[in-house]
Amino acid sequence: MATFDVESQLDLERIRADFPILHQVDDENNLLVYLDNGASSQRPKSVIDCLTDVYQRYYANVHRGAHRLSGESTDLFEVARKATQRFLNAASENEVIFTSGTTMGINLVARSWGDANLQTGDEILLTEMEHHSNLVPWHQLAQRTGAVIKAIPITEDGQLDLDFLPKLLTERTKMVALAAVSNVLGTINPVGRVVEAAHAVGAKVLVDAAQAVPHEAIDVQRWDADFVAFSGHKMLGPSGVGVLYGKESILDEMPPFLGGGSMIDIVEIDRFTPAMLPAKFEAGTPPIADAIAMTPAIEYLEKVGLSAILQHEQSLAAYAHQLLADVPGLRILGPDVTKKAGIVSFVIDGLAASDIATFLDGRGVAVREGHHCTLPLHKKLGISASVRASFYLYNTREEVEKLADAVRTSVDFFG
Ligand code: PLP
Repeated sequence: MATFDVESQLDLERIRADFPILHQVDDENNLLVYLDNGASSQRPKSVIDCLTDVYQRYYANVHRGAHRLSGESTDLFEVARKATQRFLNAASENEVIFTSGTTMGINLVARSWGDANLQTGDEILLTEMEHHSNLVPWHQLAQRTGAVIKAIPITEDGQLDLDFLPKLLTERTKMVALAAVSNVLGTINPVGRVVEAAHAVGAKVLVDAAQAVPHEAIDVQRWDADFVAFSGHKMLGPSGVGVLYGKESILDEMPPFLGGGSMIDIVEIDRFTPAMLPAKFEAGTPPIADAIAMTPAIEYLEKVGLSAILQHEQSLAAYAHQLLADVPGLRILGPDVTKKAGIVSFVIDGLAASDIATFLDGRGVAVREGHHCTLPLHKKLGISASVRASFYLYNTREEVEKLADAVRTSVDFFG
């Protein structure tokens, strides 16, 4: 097995003190071991306090009222947009659209850009490791337009098989949509390489960065992707808010997705003209407090440092690989630890993933089980479900040991 000797640089005691939820115990007096960060992270006190503060002191609708509270809410809403722009190194704040999450961001692009640009016989290139959020909106687009779906296959060890790229990318390819990091395999995909190849045939690229933005420093200009979607709730922020980054020149050309208040310039009884960016894509009342609380979430990640966070999570994943290696019948999915983020999914011969996860929960260890919204990937791997432990900046080596101990005990218990 490959070794991966990275030392965590994080001051875990200090970090953990910032997350109130991590200090609770269950009925059996087990301290919570939260390893379901791939599904949703926990929040530091600064984010929780920000939400409370918004609702207690200056909540009002944004971009609408003439009164003081609306002015304050609007200012802080726009501060969050600027913080997001800085965080992503986007060229303009007009490139930051607040959505409800990754799923909505991808649907927005598939509906707005896709409907306007795809025709029968055009091709959409996906990968075999995509989350349903980055599959179904493209299936729906293909159904509406007659476009054809293709997929980059994965190798035995769960990496994109880029040998297929030259054959799969043709002048008919209009969109390439891929995850930056697989939510099951943990594979870190070579986004820059795919973007370059896709652009060479004139295709646009959408990056599903739901599992990447929370864990590694992202520079959208370096990636050069046309669209990047992610969710606040996986990166210490509130649920109900997410971000779609898009290149300004492309967003400018796209028709609005949802119609309603805020996204218009002029409305007459039988027609409308859309607003400028970013309002054009933010119809209706946005997730006001949630977007405002993205600022402390981003500031927290910046303060700790994204490269230190990734290094910490990879060191935990490496430790988990090491401790789980000799559990009888256990197989870890995906590549070796040098090529993945802090996600460790596994199956155990003869044991149902749901039984293992329930057993772990009885010992205070929270993991996810099932197909993790990746049915095609699970089918490709020849399994129906897996158990996933996913780490974040507040997880410790002791928690990895508790996970491994509980997994070992579950094998004895059910075996
Ligand atoms: N894409 C990936 C890779 C994910 O892991 C997830 C969530 O688990 C999503 C998309 C969907 O995110 P959301 O439910 O926040 O829209």
